[in-house]
Amino acid sequence: KNDQLDAWDRENFFHPSTHLAEFARGNMPNRIMTGGSGCHVEDRDGNRLLDAFAGLYCVNVGYGRTEIAEAIAEQAHKLAYYHAYMGHGTEASITLAKMVLDRAPEHMSKVYFGLGGSDANETNVKIVWYYNNVLGRPEKKKIIARWRGYHGSGLISGSLTGLDLFHKKFDLPLAQVIHTEAPYYFRRADLAQTEEQFTAHCVAELEALIEREGADTIAAFIGEPAIATGGIVPPPAGYWQAIQEVLSRHDILLIADEVVTGFGRLGTMFGSEHYGIRPDIMTIAKGLTSAYAPLSGSIVSDKVWQVLEKGTDEFGPFGHGWTYSAHPIGAAAGVANLKLIDELNLVENAREVGAYFRQAMQHAVGDHPHVGEVRGEGMLCAVEFVADRETRQFFDLSEKTVPRINEALMKRGVISRAMPQSDILGFAPPLCLSRAEAEEVAEKTAQAVKSVLG
Ligand code: PLP
Repeated sequence: KNDQLDAWDRENFFHPSTHLAEFARGNMPNRIMTGGSGCHVEDRDGNRLLDAFAGLYCVNVGYGRTEIAEAIAEQAHKLAYYHAYMGHGTEASITLAKMVLDRAPEHMSKVYFGLGGSDANETNVKIVWYYNNVLGRPEKKKIIARWRGYHGSGLISGSLTGLDLFHKKFDLPLAQVIHTEAPYYFRRADLAQTEEQFTAHCVAELEALIEREGADTIAAFIGEPAIATGGIVPPPAGYWQAIQEVLSRHDILLIADEVVTGFGRLGTMFGSEHYGIRPDIMTIAKGLTSAYAPLSGSIVSDKVWQVLEKGTDEFGPFGHGWTYSAHPIGAAAGVANLKLIDELNLVENAREVGAYFRQAMQHAVGDHPHVGEVRGEGMLCAVEFVADRETRQFFDLSEKTVPRINEALMKRGVISRAMPQSDILGFAPPLCLSRAEAEEVAEKTAQAVKSVLG
């Protein structure tokens, strides 16, 4: 063990989303990862862990893929960088744009490349504001997001996020962002409601919000096809169809945040395909490169693109870009990654092994008196714990029940995630998970639950 590294880590490294004081004091373990292959990662202490969260649901093809590593190396040797401003590009970025559009819904037109999901959502809001300015309706600027949605940690993307952990003490959300109810059926206020009735309730809430604010002040609605960080919450039956009907009636654009659901996680190439969503803009990141290099994208529809073109005819070049937009290393990783997703049939594997995994989890922990629900879609699975099954009462968060289960599972060699501000244990394995690995995760989860809750 390299204790020098441990000391440097605590002295110098400002970790994201971390209890900084506890970490600096040494009350939190640091985990220094050194290698990985398939669904497993290794840490510097020699532990081999089955990563049932694929990093942060991003390593879709699994670790150690030489095809992607070689594509990155080749690109770095040939041309590590060139920018994409003013019509410049590289073979990799142009090829990747074509591959993304080939996989996106028919009506999508162009893809803008950024670095991560947060900056892609910053870009999306700027696109939407620009769109309404070009159309001569500068008052139509507010964005509706949902409580429990996660869209990033920037100023606007963090505002769109509907978890107060990401707002408090940061003076967020910004005034242009308003939130509506999450389609979280398990936590509905009226337990007597059917899925259809609950959907109707969510839609009525949205209608009421639009009515209150005025449709002529609302530019867009953003949502993850299935909520991920907010607790792994697939929508109830009919939700997206009904929401879309309301949005199109009020001329409000729909942004589908596909950062987690894109590139196979739900068992379809995109979550939009899975739920029959027709987005105006799509956010992509994570699975675009399987996180072998940072890259994100904003895919815009024909309808939006036409207005953007018109805008530049009237006002000159589109004044938005990052130095690293369409970075060749990320683009090369993306091209190799999307090829691998196809060659290994990973979308199909996510659908089939994902369903098998949820069944195995249901079988392993579903009857435990403190498990309220096992749910998910494709290669996303959540176990929601309850202090009381009848009333669905929450555990006292200060008891850290789910973080302790998460830790107990880690001790057994499996990485899961205690989802923020909830009693939910989340799983989002690489899409190449095998049935044997699915069974292992489920069995070890049962052991971890038993060790903490009896
Ligand atoms: N959107 C969604 C749905 C996400 O899950 C995330 C990250 O988890 C983001 C956006 C932000 O992406 P990034 O962390 O790459 O900025």
